[in-house]
Amino acid sequence: MGYSERGNQEWQKDQEKGQTTMADILDGKALAATIHGEQAEKVAFLSKKVGRPPGLAVILVGDDPASHTYVANKRKACHRVGIYAPDINLPASATTDAILEAIDTFNRDPAIDGILVQLPLPSHVAKDKVLLRISPDKDVDGFHPANLGLLVAGEPGLVACTPRGVITLLDRFKIPIAGKHAVVIGRSLIVGKPMALLLLNRDATVTICHSKTSDLAAQARQADILVAALGRPEMIGRDYIKPGATVIDVGISRGTDGKLKGDVLFEEVRQIAGAITPVPGGIGPMTIATLLDNTIDAYRFHAGLTA
Ligand code: NAD
Repeated sequence: MGYSERGNQEWQKDQEKGQTTMADILDGKALAATIHGEQAEKVAFLSKKVGRPPGLAVILVGDDPASHTYVANKRKACHRVGIYAPDINLPASATTDAILEAIDTFNRDPAIDGILVQLPLPSHVAKDKVLLRISPDKDVDGFHPANLGLLVAGEPGLVACTPRGVITLLDRFKIPIAGKHAVVIGRSLIVGKPMALLLLNRDATVTICHSKTSDLAAQARQADILVAALGRPEMIGRDYIKPGATVIDVGISRGTDGKLKGDVLFEEVRQIAGAITPVPGGIGPMTIATLLDNTIDAYRFHAGLTA
């Protein structure tokens, strides 16, 4: 049993006894693989019952190489678990109207349960108009105001994949949330805000930090659970960490050496944290696993399955 299950007090006792400890590595890649296996079984079982598999339309606009890789990974994961995922690639010159038309087609298509428009969109496209057009019951990215409203109200709805993936990871590694102090660094609609709301809905005491927060390190040091989602490569060092804390690194940036970097200085922080997610192999794979969970949830809803 690791520190993530035993908690901060055990960690501190070991420190006092002079035992050097390293954080548990929260292996999101291995966990996501386990979840994909469970999803494949679930999809095979439900597809027989419903008479069709779940369907996810991932709409890709333009030639951004990173977006191509993300979309290919999402479609590959769908195929692996038996989710129907047609290719919809629109040229970089596609107009807002052409994208809206594609969304309308999938909003009406009964074989499609989830629609995702890969971001970023080319600058001439009206992004907000596009995201608003996705029917809330097919909004597997959880960006539609209707789903954000449900999240604020603490009601069931589709929730953004990355923050929901963080909660799944904490739960699967048996890291308690209720009563803990969680600090979220970042307040975007995609990660920071929904993350803070999910933690709050699970009875954590939540602090949200952002680019105008003064003395960020002092705020972060209060955290039993620290979620770094600021997109500043390796900015979070040991000064930001309460000994024994669980550190979730959402950030992904590509360094000048071409390697992926998180927001957390991993080697330094793992010597003081209780548990930590790596980059790559932490929250990234959990985000894709959660996209499939959201698609399966939407499918069950469309098929009228409640249990
Ligand atoms: P964003 O740029 O929209 O938001 C960043 C947030 O961090 C802002 O709210 C800003 O106020 C805050 N911030 C920036 N600099 C700061 C500083 N110096 N101190 C304190 N706060 C600061 O980014 P985002 O879309 O929320 O993504 C954040 C990071 O997470 C990025 O690196 C992104 O690539 C990554 N990301 C990863 C996944 C995944 O699957 N692992 C998914 C989405 C985003």
